[in-house]
Amino acid sequence: MAQDVLIVGGGIAGVMAAYNLNKLGENVTIVDKGDLSDNTSFGNAGLLSAWEKPPLSHPGVIGDTLKLMVQGKSPLIINPTLDLNVYKWLLKFVASSSRSRLKKSLILFEKYGDLNLREYLNIIKKENADFDLHQDGVYLVFTNKQNYLTKLTQAKDTQKYEVLSYEEARDNMGFVKDNIEGVINLKRNVRLDPKCVMESMYEILRKRGVKFILNEEIVDWELENGKIKKAVGKNQSYKSDTFILASGIDTKLASKVGTNLMLTPAKGYNITFQMDESIKPKQCVMFGDLFIICTPRKNDVRLTSKLELATKDKEVMQKRIRSIVNTLKNYTIDFEMKNPSTWAGFRPLTPNDMPLIGRDENYKNLVYAMGYGWLGMTFGGALGRIIADLIHRDLDNKQSDDIMLFSGFYQGCL
Ligand SMILES: Cc1cc2nc3c(=O)[nH]c(=O)nc-3n(C[C@H](O)[C@H](O)[C@H](O)COP(=O)(O)OP(=O)(O)OC[C@H]3O[C@@H](n4cnc5c(N)ncnc54)[C@H](O)[C@@H]3O)c2cc1C
Repeated sequence: MAQDVLIVGGGIAGVMAAYNLNKLGENVTIVDKGDLSDNTSFGNAGLLSAWEKPPLSHPGVIGDTLKLMVQGKSPLIINPTLDLNVYKWLLKFVASSSRSRLKKSLILFEKYGDLNLREYLNIIKKENADFDLHQDGVYLVFTNKQNYLTKLTQAKDTQKYEVLSYEEARDNMGFVKDNIEGVINLKRNVRLDPKCVMESMYEILRKRGVKFILNEEIVDWELENGKIKKAVGKNQSYKSDTFILASGIDTKLASKVGTNLMLTPAKGYNITFQMDESIKPKQCVMFGDLFIICTPRKNDVRLTSKLELATKDKEVMQKRIRSIVNTLKNYTIDFEMKNPSTWAGFRPLTPNDMPLIGRDENYKNLVYAMGYGWLGMTFGGALGRIIADLIHRDLDNKQSDDIMLFSGFYQGCL
């Protein structure tokens, strides 16, 4: 018999779990406190970054970040805070920057990145969806010579890397000036338009009979005999067999059942604007050592940057926007940002980039789809499938190899 599954949160984590559960015949409802016209899943850079990209916490990260901080160029901002959870998170982050963790993460990224890409390509084909997905790599642009030389020593495999001279890359990079140190195409990386993904998925889910309850915030659980009986909303309560928590950075509902999720909000910004077609990049350009990504889309271009810890303030701080624009200016020709819009959102970041997926230890009918970090688009499809499989087959966490391998609950995020 079909189970009722209530999903709290309609970002990429929620919709991909919903899609897979619906395909398996379950009755799915998504409840969201907003109207699903904007969340972090809309505002991101749209890269599928599973290949040849290290986790944020990797060997050397502390030294590199401190150097950039001294130069006033660091994308990482840590606001002063009395919140002990932030310091606990930072300690875990530092502890995760080992060589052995890096090796493991790179293998897992590739495994689940491949699965995710297959999922997206299947959805595009089966559902006739438009994700504006391009499998044409990402230009990794270096402004620091030492970083470039270090990466060059690793970029030997021509299946994965293409080392380009400025002249070779220029036509695809549009507005980038010739004072950069080098360009390496990460050939396997993919880009898409997150707004296209989210809007397509809402339409597909509606057509397939998934119910949506919007502008309703879930604030508590009604518990009975070691299970969750109802999700308590501001307007009414909702009964279900299984509940999925996919609420992005909001961990309050996990705390209500005594589970402390090891994730922290990491604020990021985007500036989306139109530019002359003659200088618009044709490829995604990632200024690796500046932590600025420029993604071309159908009608505009999006810059994304910054990683700010210990804040939940959603305001778009103009000084951060200016800092992105001014940093980038040094490496681009003069150009006009036409019709610019700015945005800020939060990555639900775990210390070692492993997502927090799987059943709650005590309340087994509560399943987490949390902690997707800076990689929600990169893994959302794969994780949705793993979560749906766990629920549909009524498995314990330990019966799912994928949960044991890739969930932060078992990979150092407790
Ligand atoms: C600047 C920036 C750039 C990024 N670039 C990339 C990239 O290039 N590639 C990539 O893979 N990832 C990227 N990411 C990360 C990616 O955007 C996130 O991992 C992903 O969006 C997280 O999805 P989510 O579904 O967990 O959260 P969200 O998208 O935030 O969705 C959570 C939803 O839950 C709802 N909600 C929360 N609490 C409640 C409640 N109590 N009741 C009801 N509803 C609730 C919210 O309204 C929201 O709609 C980037 C992030 C940022 C900030």
